[in-house]
Amino acid sequence: MQYQGVLKKMPTENQNTVQYYLDMSSDFLNMNQLLNREMSLSFVTYECLNCHLEKKIYRQGFCKSCFFETPTAGDWIMRPELSKAHLGEEDRDLEYEKKVQLQPHIVYLANSSNVKVGVTRKQQVPTRWIDQGAHEAIEIVEVPNRYLAGITEVALKEHVADKTNWRTMLKNEVKDENLVEWRERLQEFIPDEAKEYYLASNTETNIQFPVEKYPKKPKSLNLEKEESYTGKLVGIKGQYLIFEDETVFNVRANEGLVVRIELH
Ligand SMILES: [Zn+2]
Repeated sequence: MQYQGVLKKMPTENQNTVQYYLDMSSDFLNMNQLLNREMSLSFVTYECLNCHLEKKIYRQGFCKSCFFETPTAGDWIMRPELSKAHLGEEDRDLEYEKKVQLQPHIVYLANSSNVKVGVTRKQQVPTRWIDQGAHEAIEIVEVPNRYLAGITEVALKEHVADKTNWRTMLKNEVKDENLVEWRERLQEFIPDEAKEYYLASNTETNIQFPVEKYPKKPKSLNLEKEESYTGKLVGIKGQYLIFEDETVFNVRANEGLVVRIELH
């Protein structure tokens, strides 16, 4: 069997074990069913996720011009505290920014390699946590817009990490933390504007990833450079495919690459 399509972040479903899907234009693959299968991945070309032209990908699946122009790649995406739609101020496209920013957002703690703080739209819970490979996570505040979530994250970053270590996450060298205690400890550092939105009663969400064998020394596959790779899939965690020889492939970081997948 052979499939070809442009890579996009794998959609997921949080069942007992996370279910992963890969959209290969004419086929929608359930990746869990491919565990223990040998497969080849080949780089074909590029396709920008915004303009769909065959242009080299710059960041986040976009070619360079789209990255600097499309409203879906504004600075406020990565830095929510820069959001301005609540003031009626435009960054790139006010209508789009109102639609995305002026909706409930969650500031959360997630533990993938260590406890970190993050921001997501409420409708992206628990998808965002799955994408990060977090085995546990909890909400801290639910605020009505992205700006309030952003300033809360900035304030909490003074007291908790905001980055994770992907190698530690993939090696599964993780420990269970009591995230309710973490949340209670951090409560006093929530900025005044967001204090009323504190969530005092949510419990941890636990996530199980479909991994049969964790790599001891994960090696990241650069498909653009190597052009093709063959290996046996033994797990999926976060947005990483994990192969038996400890090669790992970050699907999200390769968005916009057109690839061919061949099952053996
Ligand atoms: Zn483009």
